[in-house]
Amino acid sequence: TVRTRFAPSPTGALHIGGARTALFSWALAQHFGGTFVLRIEDTDVERSTPENVAEILDAMAWLKLTHDDGPYYQMQRMDRYREVIEQMLANGTAYHCYTSREELEAMREAQKARGEREKYDGTWRPEAGKTLPEIPVGVQPVVRFKNPLSGNTSWVDVVKGEISFNNAELDDLIIARPDGTPTYNFCVVVDDWDMGITHVIRGDDHVNNTPKQINILKALNAPLPFYGHIPMILAPDGSKLSKRKNATAVMDYERMGYLPEALCNYLARLGWGHGDDEVFTREQFVEWFSVEHLTSSSSQWDPKKLNWMNNHYINKKPHDELVALIEPRLIARLNTYDHTLPLTTYPLSDIVALYKSRCDTLVQITDEAESYYLPYVANIELINEQVNDANRPALKDFAEGLKTVTWDKESINALIKSILTEHGLKMPALGIPLRAIILGQTQSPSVDTVLHVFGRQEVLNRLNIVT
Ligand code: GLU
Repeated sequence: TVRTRFAPSPTGALHIGGARTALFSWALAQHFGGTFVLRIEDTDVERSTPENVAEILDAMAWLKLTHDDGPYYQMQRMDRYREVIEQMLANGTAYHCYTSREELEAMREAQKARGEREKYDGTWRPEAGKTLPEIPVGVQPVVRFKNPLSGNTSWVDVVKGEISFNNAELDDLIIARPDGTPTYNFCVVVDDWDMGITHVIRGDDHVNNTPKQINILKALNAPLPFYGHIPMILAPDGSKLSKRKNATAVMDYERMGYLPEALCNYLARLGWGHGDDEVFTREQFVEWFSVEHLTSSSSQWDPKKLNWMNNHYINKKPHDELVALIEPRLIARLNTYDHTLPLTTYPLSDIVALYKSRCDTLVQITDEAESYYLPYVANIELINEQVNDANRPALKDFAEGLKTVTWDKESINALIKSILTEHGLKMPALGIPLRAIILGQTQSPSVDTVLHVFGRQEVLNRLNIVT
């Protein structure tokens, strides 16, 4: 059965690249009814923080990338790593190396001077018939893995195809430091083995680690998982994606008003495809997912497409659910002002309905809704610009008509039409000055719907300025 894992290091927030890796690993497990394991790789104690762990777990939950097993924490598995290191020392697949840091440094310098690859020279590597040096006193040894000296380590990468490394170019990897703590690649190997991982999907920044990990797995007689290395996500201009140019943390997208289903759909299409399908449900994604359709070329982050996708999902969402997402954002926003109208003044649901097709994010909808709940201040400058002798009589007649019109959108619309005919005007000649007066701007959803939300009294109050 398929077991995949996502193994973030909590040295920062969960980024969009990591989220995409997680999404693919999750989908692969889901597709085969397998298990998705979450593993927190927190052995970099200097840079790992509980806050980052919390943020990663939050982001995974927000994206609904639910793990079936874990989370495991590497720092809680130290005894297990030590146990495996002892076994490897005992069966000769690893050895103690007493070469000091200074000696290593000198070795590297000499190799560099000779134009050779920098590599451990194998002084402490046990071989049949070889006598090892005298163990120095007072030196804490590291443990090195006895890597094969010749041949190749190859695998068929499910994304990149056949990849091969020459063993002679791989070092005898340090698997335990002088203080006994295990090193990164070794922990990953023990974990993938213990956790029964069948498919490792990860960023292609790990390609160079894979032959090291494969050789250790072989030495442990552990089954080899399939590996798939997915290319990085690049910035829109093709350069490296960076915080300075684009938001990179998943939860920044939550704050900016993206829906998790939109972000997931967008991420799914970034480096994976199912024909020309752009928009699909989670169920379809899981059903269609296969590693064969992961692309081996890098993809570019496209904020416009993400916005388009988000707009789509905003408008697809059941209206009540959308309103429920806007409300707390609006309340938080209104709390930043000294004076606001109570939320009960206007039906928020109607306001959201007016703006949702025009907005790409929840924040944009909130921006629009906000203005309804702030005390009215006439935009005199704009009103003077838009109201003139040609439209003033029509505005006055319109205000008069509003006093008695039945207060529904159709009747308000009919009144607008009759005033236009009466005064021989076209829609913008009334619509633009009305928007300037009522909203303080010249663009908005259709005027009849906006007026309807404000209610007769408020509209007449605002129109007072021209009557
Ligand atoms: N912890 C690694 C990272 O965050 C991932 C390791 C792996 O997937 O093997 O880049």
